[in-house]
Amino acid sequence: MQISNVAFIGTGIMGARIAGHLMDAGYDLTVYNRTREKAEGLLARGARWADSPAEAAADADVVFTMVGYPTDVEDVYLSTDGLIRAAKKGAWLIDLTTSSPQLARDIHDAAEVEDKHAFDCPVTGGEQGAIDGTLTLIIGAAEKDVAPVMPLLECFSSRRFFFDQPGGGQTAKLCNQVSLASCMVGYADALALAEQSGIDAEKVLEVMASGTGGSGASKTLAPKSLAGDYKPGFLAEHLRKDIALALQRSEDLEITLPGAETAFTLFDMLCQIGGSRMGTQALTLLYQEEGTCAAAGLDWSLLEQGDEDDEHECCCGHDHGDEHECCGGHGHHHDGDHECHCHDHDHEGRA
Ligand code: NAP
Repeated sequence: MQISNVAFIGTGIMGARIAGHLMDAGYDLTVYNRTREKAEGLLARGARWADSPAEAAADADVVFTMVGYPTDVEDVYLSTDGLIRAAKKGAWLIDLTTSSPQLARDIHDAAEVEDKHAFDCPVTGGEQGAIDGTLTLIIGAAEKDVAPVMPLLECFSSRRFFFDQPGGGQTAKLCNQVSLASCMVGYADALALAEQSGIDAEKVLEVMASGTGGSGASKTLAPKSLAGDYKPGFLAEHLRKDIALALQRSEDLEITLPGAETAFTLFDMLCQIGGSRMGTQALTLLYQEEGTCAAAGLDWSLLEQGDEDDEHECCCGHDHGDEHECCGGHGHHHDGDHECHCHDHDHEGRA
């Protein structure tokens, strides 16, 4: 199959960079993003704008999606004018979003019925990996089955892992995310202990890096935390979403993930007090004086309001009010042909 027309939906922090690598490789690109301004850089380079996912997909041999939440993925793929219906027969639909494993299976199955190929392909490597084109891809399909699109995947990745079944990529990505979340709590604890003890926190990071206490997170993100640089590479609200999805999976499996539970409580708190759109490294602000938090743009009184009102944004990115269980990012459609895979907490007092 000759692949020339590629569509890219979701040109945010990660998507714009990945789409840029596809353009560098010579693919003819059509883009759609909810907010058009975030696609301007690609449009200036010659990408075509589409007014909807359906329009973007109309002539595409391959469609990539890199949106925020499972609810966004569900809209883009499964709504009446979504990709499953709108894409050409034989088209490849590749979801790079970190999303729900069950939703990935639903999309795969729906695509198969329509003679289209869909697979989950979440990524790791962060904004820098997207800039450098060195992401690691975590693929919910077998290598031989995605051979026709390998040249496209290679444009923006340096390693590719195949988990051989629909949703397998998303499940493996959630494993990565629970480990990341605990590593972040680990380095935030270490920095707090160092600072409160009056010893050199930067030197402590060096010790961790040269011993066994360090992690990818402490290497790349802890220096930003120490420097007070909270600009997002990876949004705090997206890590909260990922942990919620992992906790939902753990409930389905009837296992406990204590590290993830702790990390969820902390990231949820950060999001509630105004840190949703900060980088995940802003976690360390939770350990700081209120004045330092306020200077960084956080407001602890929002947490009290949340406790009183029970009305705050859910970890899925929606405000469900006080009478609705959180959907863990999977969102609506609790009826009909596809069940909700929710985190199942009820927003009593906290998300
Ligand atoms: P982001 O900057 O928020 O990008 C998501 C983009 O998708 C936004 O531009 C958003 O539009 C767009 N979008 C959302 N729903 C849409 C829809 N229905 N139709 C069209 N466009 C839609 O987030 P990101 O950092 O690129 O992350 C994207 C995904 O990758 C998330 O699931 C995240 O967890 C995952 N991820 C992120 C990183 C990282 O380091 N940043 C690393 C690995 C994985 P607006 O512009 O209107 O908001």
